[in-house]
Amino acid sequence: MSKSPPDLIALMAQILVDTPKMPDAACIGRHELFDPPVAYEDPGDVLDRHTAAVGICSTCPARTRCRQWATTERPTDGVLAGQIPPQPQRRGRPPQMESA
Ligand code: SF4
Repeated sequence: MSKSPPDLIALMAQILVDTPKMPDAACIGRHELFDPPVAYEDPGDVLDRHTAAVGICSTCPARTRCRQWATTERPTDGVLAGQIPPQPQRRGRPPQMESA
């Protein structure tokens, strides 16, 4: 029995219907601050980006609607509704401290 391919048009339409319209969102055009970490990105740089994103969220006029919508979404590694994702623990030995 073969599996039929997903109806991508219907899937995209459903995503668009389920996603609230927030034309006043302060993050429009600023995705680079909100995105999940990219491969080999320094964790400190990720934290700096995400902290800046949370600052943008704190003044966003769409924050309440965004927060309501975010409760229906899967957890993300990026910033959503002013929530900074948990930072992954570093593996391996801790870095050596430089002595003075
Ligand atoms: S609260 Fe939501 S809509 Fe507003 S800037 Fe943050 S992520 Fe964007």
